[in-house]
Amino acid sequence: MNAPIAHPPKVDLTPDAGTTPVMAQFLTAKASHPDAMLFFRMGDFYELFFDDAEKAAAALGIALTKRGKHKGEDIPMAGVPVHAMDGYLARLIRQGFKVAVCEQMEDPSEAKKRGSKAVVRRDVVRVVTPGTLTEDSLLDARGANRLAAVSVRKGKAAVAVVELSAGAVDSVACDLGDLASVLAAFRPSEVLVPDRLFGDETLKAALDGSGGVVQAIPSALGEPTGARDRVQRLYGVSALDGFGHFEEAEVSALGLIAAYLETTQAGKIPALAPPRRTGEVGHLAIDPSTRHSLEIDRTQRGERDGSLLHCIDRTVTSGGARALAERIARPLCDPALINANLDAVGWMVENRPLRRDLRDILKASSDVARATSRLALGRGGPRDLAAIRSGLLSAEAIGALFAASRNDPLAGPPARLQSALADLTLDADLSSLLADLREGLADEPSHLVRDGGFVQLGHRPELDAARALRDDSRRVIAELEARAIEESGVAFKVRHNAVLGYFLEATAKAAEPLMRAGPDSPFIHRQTLANQVRFTTVELSELDAKISQAGYRALAIETETFESWRREVAALAPRLQRVAEAIAELDAHAGLAEWAEEVGATRPMVDDGLCFFVEGGRHPVVEAAVKAQGNPYTPNDCRLSGDGQGGSRLSIVTGPNMAGKSTFLRQNALLVILAQAGAFVPARTMHLGVVDRLFSRVGAGDDLARGRSTFMMEMVETAAILSQATPRSFVVLDEIGRGTATYDGLAIAWATAEALHETNRARTLFATHYHELAQLEERLDHVSNLSMAAKEWNGDLVFLHEAVLGAADRSYGVQVARLAGVPPKVVARAKSVLEKLEKEKTSSASLNDLPLFAAAQPEPEPAGPSPVDLALADISPDDLSPREALEALYRLKALATDKA
Ligand code: ADP
Repeated sequence: MNAPIAHPPKVDLTPDAGTTPVMAQFLTAKASHPDAMLFFRMGDFYELFFDDAEKAAAALGIALTKRGKHKGEDIPMAGVPVHAMDGYLARLIRQGFKVAVCEQMEDPSEAKKRGSKAVVRRDVVRVVTPGTLTEDSLLDARGANRLAAVSVRKGKAAVAVVELSAGAVDSVACDLGDLASVLAAFRPSEVLVPDRLFGDETLKAALDGSGGVVQAIPSALGEPTGARDRVQRLYGVSALDGFGHFEEAEVSALGLIAAYLETTQAGKIPALAPPRRTGEVGHLAIDPSTRHSLEIDRTQRGERDGSLLHCIDRTVTSGGARALAERIARPLCDPALINANLDAVGWMVENRPLRRDLRDILKASSDVARATSRLALGRGGPRDLAAIRSGLLSAEAIGALFAASRNDPLAGPPARLQSALADLTLDADLSSLLADLREGLADEPSHLVRDGGFVQLGHRPELDAARALRDDSRRVIAELEARAIEESGVAFKVRHNAVLGYFLEATAKAAEPLMRAGPDSPFIHRQTLANQVRFTTVELSELDAKISQAGYRALAIETETFESWRREVAALAPRLQRVAEAIAELDAHAGLAEWAEEVGATRPMVDDGLCFFVEGGRHPVVEAAVKAQGNPYTPNDCRLSGDGQGGSRLSIVTGPNMAGKSTFLRQNALLVILAQAGAFVPARTMHLGVVDRLFSRVGAGDDLARGRSTFMMEMVETAAILSQATPRSFVVLDEIGRGTATYDGLAIAWATAEALHETNRARTLFATHYHELAQLEERLDHVSNLSMAAKEWNGDLVFLHEAVLGAADRSYGVQVARLAGVPPKVVARAKSVLEKLEKEKTSSASLNDLPLFAAAQPEPEPAGPSPVDLALADISPDDLSPREALEALYRLKALATDKA
């Protein structure tokens, strides 16, 4: 999805003599953010003007009005109330808009001090874009929200990714051809590209496949020197070398991110961890179409429900859910790292009681990562402090839980868990922050600072004093009311409003005697309304002043306390983010163990060989669906081997439609992902030599939005596989060649299978409805035939969903049509046509010989009597002498040989 195009404004937005001061202020702010919708704060509303107002009215369904004139034309205006801002913001961001928020930077009363015509100072405090959100209300708790930038320098590409709400930064250097896989793995919600690359055709597919809003940004911002400076400024360092060595394209991409953060965060510097160079740790390359086809974290319709991730996710914290999503989106390639993760999951499987206690603790913890980053950006509130407190408390509790087992050399936790536990050990600074928050922050603090009441009693004596004064005065006011009634005999009520403060109110009739009272009366008249009259007394005004002063003072002390905590959190942000990551990682391991136990998943054996041996494998998502309907799931074996040791390199999978071919293919691809993500696998046993690239082309889908037919898409994807698959890759291909004429399709399928076997040498499962391909088993060294078993029983077709050795004997298409409810008449007709076609096929040339292309075969004889037929017709045996009969026989034989 590309960003809605920022059309040049229809009207000339320069101020002139007739421009009001406020409008001039608006025009200045708008001029510095021409591509964003400007939300201009005016009291209790954010107002939008000109084009922005028209776009917002259409996008949000709000009323479009007008206010004043600009250069003789009405100024279109629309507005949203401040308290409803988040909801509107979310909708605009989802539609791909950028929003600049222009706030009032002072109280209107302060502006008035400068003169009655002075305008309230306003500034853009932030530009909200899809990739830079931090608010819980705008974010998906279980999914990361990332901003990516792409750069290409000297033929090398790089992707920089920031997850602002967790303070994480990644940098990946890659070949141009791998850009699509790398970008898709991060699923960014916004991608920045230098404007000189914006229209680049080779990048287009990668950018489109990322799923994010694509924003062009000035290429100059990615120039190496300036970019390096900007990144250094972002981190407050004088050189990047301390973070590792970065290629030019990487620095450039990181520089684009830094530049974008500078503008969108209006100068506020987020707390970011140093960039992780993830290029150094190999990840399983999975291109966007493979991700789409395997439904890894979203189904093909874009829903989470029904994806692999949704099926296996048993995490109990939002950070844990995000960590698991990342693990599944970017499985590893290094057997040592994979096994370290498997050790952690395995330990969690074995230590069930501890796992249960751990998950109980985790359930009570909060999203420390997001709270920390909001506070560091100056956007958080008291509730974010409470989240940090609860996270630190969990960290302590987890440490205590593991304490007993930690030093046990035999059964103690493996290295991955040990290092997470080390990150959870609170150092002196974190302990003191925790102690402070425990002692000072209310149990359930308010969301906003200005609501107050979040600092606990006893934490700041001067605050307690101010509060006591305020609350005590309220009690005194109640007494005063009683006394006033007694003294005056009027049924007064003490009331309060923002203009008058506290006052005594009575009905006009009841107050009549007081209105006639002389100047000595203690009840001073303040206001007369239609039915009410309002008074004050000297004592009440004094109390009023005292209360509001005490209230202001209490709030000022609370604000100051919040600010000091906030600064402490900002200073400790990197440490807090590590605590958050460790909690998330433990949750992910424990969640995977929980799932493994639930579905009976086992630990895969992962090494750097080339085998793919699975016994009793299951498709986790289909199994859950089939079981939910009360049916059993049939486990299947699969033996492939890149070097032909103990299994074939390529298996041709045949079988009727609906027999389970696609499920079998996908299942094995998903087992690769799970194993390399360090998860247990739903199989009795699995032995996997790590895979470098995973390709899946399963099921056809037109991409008409991009103007490609099914067949074209299929060929584009096939081309990508043939050019990129290596002997370490794993390929599943389904129904290649289906979208074209039979012989074309068969020829393409045949040639593709041969190339995968001979040239790419990748481990491959190749499902096809061209039974002719079964002949490859005899022609090539490392090909085997598998078929999905089906039986005809009482005229019905029964699918066994079992992968058995050998090719399928027939397609059973007609039977499947019958099962699907095609009318009996049509089925019967199809049957007879099939019989006829099959008869003809057995008499036609066999496909045994290559080249098998139909075009290479001689044209078939024209129908009609042959010369032999004609000669035979001429002969009447009764009229022939023995010699003539012999001659006729010679003639016929010659004719027949001629024809051959
Ligand atoms: P094909 O690709 O051969 O047309 P599918 O893989 O789409 O068939 O499978 C069709 C249906 O059969 C699936 O939706 C699922 O309900 C069921 N199925 C597939 N494999 C199995 C299995 N191993 N055990 C039980 N049911 C299965």
